[in-house]
Amino acid sequence: TDITTLLLSRIRDVEDYPEQGVMFKDITPLLADPVAFTALTETLAEIARRTGATKIVGLEARGFILGAPVAVSAGIGFIPVRKAGKLPGATLSQSYDLEYGSAEIEVHAEDLSAQDRVLIVDDVLATGGTAEAAIQLVRRAGAEVAGAAVLMELGFLAGRPRLEAALDGAPLEAL
Ligand code: 5GP
Repeated sequence: TDITTLLLSRIRDVEDYPEQGVMFKDITPLLADPVAFTALTETLAEIARRTGATKIVGLEARGFILGAPVAVSAGIGFIPVRKAGKLPGATLSQSYDLEYGSAEIEVHAEDLSAQDRVLIVDDVLATGGTAEAAIQLVRRAGAEVAGAAVLMELGFLAGRPRLEAALDGAPLEAL
């Protein structure tokens, strides 16, 4: 569709970043284009409304940039999921495996309640490990996962089947 073409035209391929052999999808040209950024925000906000989300959970760091305007547009709250050690209050932590080693993300426990339905927002779905850990955090905080929405999925990394299993019937939208 038109929006897919517009969004794709504003994503830059950067070779060998962050390491040799990786083709990094850089979204900064999209953020710099107000037409594309607004179209992305409004499309994600429509998904938030359709899923009945009461909160956007954005994943550090680009999930903050995309998720915050989506929350404002949808008229719902925004909650940051951060890398370990960055949040000042009482947190829940979730670790997950990387290709080499592991990573840990956190959320403020009191920012979510049993009444919340959460849409998880990030820029890129790669292996699905980060989003899967975020789903676990949201559920451990007592809230429901309404779905996950990303700008882009890297299909060859098979994040979708992994994330769909974790979502347990909630929708996964990749624009
Ligand atoms: P995953 O946990 O799905 O393997 O990796 C997803 C996370 O890594 C996301 O938070 C995403 O921002 C980041 N990521 C991985 N590959 C890329 C990429 O090519 N471009 C961008 N912008 N982010 C990426």
